[in-house]
Amino acid sequence: MEKGSLSVQTENIFPVIKRWLYSDKDIFIREAVSNAADAITKLRRLVSLAQTEVGDDNFRIDVTLNRDAKTITIADNGIGMTREEVERYINQIALSGALDFISKYEGEGDASKEGIIGHFGLGFYSVFMVSDRVEMKTRSYTGAPAVYWVCDENGRYEMAEGDKASRGTEIILHVTEDELGYLDTGRFRGILAKYCGFMPYPIYLSDGGEAEQVNDTEPLWQKNPSELTDDQYAAFYKKVFADYADPLFYVHINADYPLNFKGILYFPKPKGVYEPVEPVVKLFYNSVFVADNIKEVVPDFIPCLRGVLDCPELPLNVSRSYLQSDAYVRKVAAHIVKKVADKLCALYNKDRAGFERIWGDIRPYIEYGCMRDEKFYERVKDVMLFKDTDGSFVTVSEYLDGATEGTVYYASEGEKQGYYISLYKEKGRRVLLLDKLMDAQFIQFIESKNNKLKFARVDADVDALGEKAEDNADLTALFRKVSGREDLTVHYASVEGGAPAFIRVSEESRRMADMLRMYARGEGPEVPVGEELVVNSKNVRVAALSAALSDESREGVCELAAKQIYLSALLLSRGLTEQEQTAFAELSDRLLGQLIP
Ligand code: ADP
Repeated sequence: MEKGSLSVQTENIFPVIKRWLYSDKDIFIREAVSNAADAITKLRRLVSLAQTEVGDDNFRIDVTLNRDAKTITIADNGIGMTREEVERYINQIALSGALDFISKYEGEGDASKEGIIGHFGLGFYSVFMVSDRVEMKTRSYTGAPAVYWVCDENGRYEMAEGDKASRGTEIILHVTEDELGYLDTGRFRGILAKYCGFMPYPIYLSDGGEAEQVNDTEPLWQKNPSELTDDQYAAFYKKVFADYADPLFYVHINADYPLNFKGILYFPKPKGVYEPVEPVVKLFYNSVFVADNIKEVVPDFIPCLRGVLDCPELPLNVSRSYLQSDAYVRKVAAHIVKKVADKLCALYNKDRAGFERIWGDIRPYIEYGCMRDEKFYERVKDVMLFKDTDGSFVTVSEYLDGATEGTVYYASEGEKQGYYISLYKEKGRRVLLLDKLMDAQFIQFIESKNNKLKFARVDADVDALGEKAEDNADLTALFRKVSGREDLTVHYASVEGGAPAFIRVSEESRRMADMLRMYARGEGPEVPVGEELVVNSKNVRVAALSAALSDESREGVCELAAKQIYLSALLLSRGLTEQEQTAFAELSDRLLGQLIP
């Protein structure tokens, strides 16, 4: 039997591997099983190139846990190795890889340890994290004699002709006393399913009883979207992400050169405020699980996205710091943003009702996304929906009957602005309900993108509901007197069917006041700056008041009436300040006194 030591210089390799990978021992399963899958792929390639023939194409990987013998066996019926190949790929690669590894990483901090082992062709040796002896039985597809190889934890190996009769490789790990927990079937199945759950060849796990297949060899993302149904996408989502609710929508991406990645991303149904919003995106490398929570590829404005991405362009042992700095990752993220936008447009165009159903849940993310990412906004701007005060959805373009300029009227508090809303509706105008905190910011944003488009709150433009009417200097003087506001601006308009007077606050000054209030945490000007009175000349009481003004004997009554008109207007718009409330109580008492002395 040939004996050897992996190398005098590298006899410390195993302690080093163990130390570096200590926190992530589970990956020995991924490394060993993906080597087995690679061995099958290599053989299949030879078959497809007509370089060889195999009697059967029943390719499989068998993992066996033996608690009595304290072994884990990973067997494949792939390409196998000749003695020369074992020498070259196992004995010598380890040698040079380990030297590079040690010279590069010895003495460095913990920061760089994540997933570096694989860069040095040391994946095979990761099995020594959990075993003190590893046997390998292999037989090449060429028919060359089988090889038996065994290596101890210090790197001393023995190699001899073996007796393996069938093609392929079998690796037997003798698990150390400390790591016997890996022989627990449930635990092992969990890790195997996590890393190898979508590998392309069936993987069977057995602990002596019947072997069960642990993987799905045809993951949904590898399939052609045109052959899949919504139900299949939803079922896949529920299984992989252990959710009971259907996702709101999904995006299946199949990016060719130069990005070359596949994936399915889901927008889950929100479950409430307390749900963690960390993205859950699983990263795969040719169907081999690499890492969880790859938030680097998810646009930060849709942090709730979940999904799977298969990126053969990224190294299998990609580290988190690598993901954060990589230009390729940024391009993938940008591509995902584009695909999400395209999907939203497709949903809007194909199924408007369905789109409207999910809009309420996705809207905050989409609005925020528009403000964060110019390109995203450009793609989705035509499908942005707004709800009107009747609960129907409308786009800005629909609101303006296809025009690109005009004014969009909205209410910020449906209940409080009910009277104004009813006036607009009577005139056949729709009013949008923009009552969310972010709405103010969002309409500002839209206006900045279309300078011919204006948003005006219902109280910003009431006189537009009627014709401009002639000024009445006497009435103006009276209103200034009763309001105690000498500088009160008074306009005249004829609004059919409207109250005697309204309060108008220009959109700009109100927004400014709102903003000041927001920055001052609620402490802002109590009364909006630039509040104006619009007197409705069409109103019969106004006409009567105007006529009564010429009668000096009725001066007192006129003042009472004007005050009532003014305070009612305030009540209908913003409510009353403390001082105004006192005035209102006194006035009511006097009016009641005249009705029922
Ligand atoms: P890598 O897989 O990154 O090349 P490894 O250390 O995991 O590095 O494996 C080294 C080499 O050993 C592989 O490239 C392959 O040639 C050979 N090898 C490992 N496992 C098997 C196997 N199950 N069947 C055939 N060859 C294998």
